[in-house]
Amino acid sequence: MRTQRQVVDYSLRKRAALRELLAGRASTHDLCDASPYLKNAARFHGEPTDQRCPICRSENLTRVHYIYGDELKQSAGQARTLAELSVLAMTLREFQVFVVEVCLGCDWNHLVEQYLLGRDGLTDGPDGESEHETVSGVAAAVGAGARRRREAQR
Ligand SMILES: [Zn+2]
Repeated sequence: MRTQRQVVDYSLRKRAALRELLAGRASTHDLCDASPYLKNAARFHGEPTDQRCPICRSENLTRVHYIYGDELKQSAGQARTLAELSVLAMTLREFQVFVVEVCLGCDWNHLVEQYLLGRDGLTDGPDGESEHETVSGVAAAVGAGARRRREAQR
């Protein structure tokens, strides 16, 4: 998404959790503990992926996007679809998104990443664009002036 910023990637932590499991230092009971709420969120608001579950390898993972921030009021802490996120990103100034992957087969779940969304992240919004145009307009005018001067010198 265009306004995505301050991304924190948790894939290292995820790989570490999987290593612990393979090494027998963690059990699937510890890692596959998706709550009924998380699974409902995955069913109703989740985005399906092509990624196979690393634990059971029989289901594809679903990504759930949880939103947090003062501007969200009662919606804070709820799951949203990607389409809803992009609307919010254009409406609100700033909110936090936590992405959790879930397997609806074996209940594996893990935080994948977090990031900020919202209009505050727009660097090329309407204001920025006009400023850019002004700068290139000035450059064009200077260029035209320089050309005219060169022509006058001839
Ligand atoms: Zn699974």
